[in-house]
Amino acid sequence: MKEKLDLVVLGGGSGGLAAAQRAAEYGARVAVIERGPLGGTCVNVGCVPKKVMWNAASLAHGFHDAADYGFAIAERPAHDWAALKARRDAYVLRLNEIYARNLDTKGIELIESNARLADAHTVVAGERELKTDRLIIATGGEPVVPELSGAELGITSDGFFELENLPPRVAVAGAGYIAVELAAMLRALGAEVDLFFRYDSVLRSFDEMLQEGLLESLAADGIQLHPRCSTPALEQTPDGIQATMSTGGRYGPFDCWLWAVGRRPLTHHIGLEEAGVQLDEGGFVPTDLFQQTNVDGVYAVGDVTGRVALTPVAIAAGRRLADRVFGGMDGRHLDYENVPTVLFTHPPIGTCGLTEAEAREKFAGDVKVYRSEFVPLFNGVTDHKPKTRMKMVTAGSDEKVIGVHVIGPGADEMLQGFAVAVRMGAHKYDLDDTVAIHPTSAEELVTMR
Ligand code: FAD
Ligand code: NDP
Repeated sequence: MKEKLDLVVLGGGSGGLAAAQRAAEYGARVAVIERGPLGGTCVNVGCVPKKVMWNAASLAHGFHDAADYGFAIAERPAHDWAALKARRDAYVLRLNEIYARNLDTKGIELIESNARLADAHTVVAGERELKTDRLIIATGGEPVVPELSGAELGITSDGFFELENLPPRVAVAGAGYIAVELAAMLRALGAEVDLFFRYDSVLRSFDEMLQEGLLESLAADGIQLHPRCSTPALEQTPDGIQATMSTGGRYGPFDCWLWAVGRRPLTHHIGLEEAGVQLDEGGFVPTDLFQQTNVDGVYAVGDVTGRVALTPVAIAAGRRLADRVFGGMDGRHLDYENVPTVLFTHPPIGTCGLTEAEAREKFAGDVKVYRSEFVPLFNGVTDHKPKTRMKMVTAGSDEKVIGVHVIGPGADEMLQGFAVAVRMGAHKYDLDDTVAIHPTSAEELVTMR
């Protein structure tokens, strides 16, 4: 049966759902094709369950300091991972249901199937063949497992969310968001954790101050850091997984090996070639400023585009695309500059804009940097004295703020507001003119000298 729609969306994750719902609000006849649970990576195996685990890790960190705040906690209470997982899974299930109801309310048809393009105007979903003038590729990505001997013994972030119990000895391989977040959570919840990365640092594209601060806090938490260590082979032994490194060193045994070495787009075998849609060498779908691929009427949003793989970015791109195509807002598009981002480590990292190194490369001598390093008031009364670090990068004689970087408790919530200031083109004097909120850590950002 052939049916004609205004918009067909491949993938019911952050970007696809956002675009579909906004288009339907403008009266478009829309179908979303999703082969897995609604909400995609973020809701099911990403941001949401990850944040639940981060919250648990926050509580665990709180217990370290509780005695110094007068609580009679001699040792850390036991943690029931399975009980938390059951609550987390139930919460995710509730979200899946809410997402389905939202589609229903907006009159969007959900087709639970694998989707494939037959051509640029025809999408095949099971028995259905949908005709449309416009379609959006929003199929997201999946974790990479390297092609190494024994690599299949490891799990990825997807497998992390399936763990029924805390593995006592965990190795994490990688140096990006997922590696540091999951390593830090596993450690906070009681695992022995070894983190293996290929170069001297983690988060190499982030400001150096953040890299240094994070390495210091990971080490202080008891994570064994293994720089310049890449893995050529894993093997299963009776005691657990053993790793042999390119340097020849052997590590283990581990109960769990977690690959966190990046993600690849889900763009193969979905008919993009048949539709004439070009992919880059990484398999991503290049788009112009308006999320338009090289084929007229075929758009792409979210992780498949290979630009800033974050949920709010996928959502913003999807909504703006629908505003433009179905809402008559000519020229509306997402600006990918100055996207704020947070790493949910302990302490968290919040960052927006250019790093100091990027700024110096772009503006040479026209850069002025403000720094602050202090023990937060919370730790004034505790034996544990972690440091919060902040950096503001400015450019030009009028000191336009082009980068804000924070590692310390509260950085996760702090950065959203400062990102508004950066986006609006704030100058250092605007921040100086803003009255501080006291006593907070955030006030340091408006009192820097
Ligand atoms: P997805 O959400 O991946 O959705 C794509 C959907 O398409 C999936 O549901 C998939 O099943 C479906 N699909 C794929 N192929 C087909 C097909 N052929 N037919 C039908 N359906 C198909 N971002 C943040 O902003 N903050 C965070 O804290 C954060 N934490 C993360 C933690 C982890 C562990 C991971 C892995 C990611 C995290 N992210 C975070 C990134 C965020 O999850 C992604 O950027 C976001 O989900 C991308 O949305 P998307 O719509 O592009 O793709
Ligand atoms: P990332 O791109 O963040 O990091 C992967 C890193 O792994 C690479 O940068 C590389 O670092 C290292 N690496 C690559 N190949 C290998 C290898 N073979 N062996 C060892 N290390 C390797 O990817 P993630 O998978 O961590 O996350 C994917 C994306 O999801 C993120 O970029 C982010 O956009 C999003 N995300 C967002 C979160 C948030 O908002 N809090 C949380 C989680 C994910 P190097 O070159 O230094 O070795």
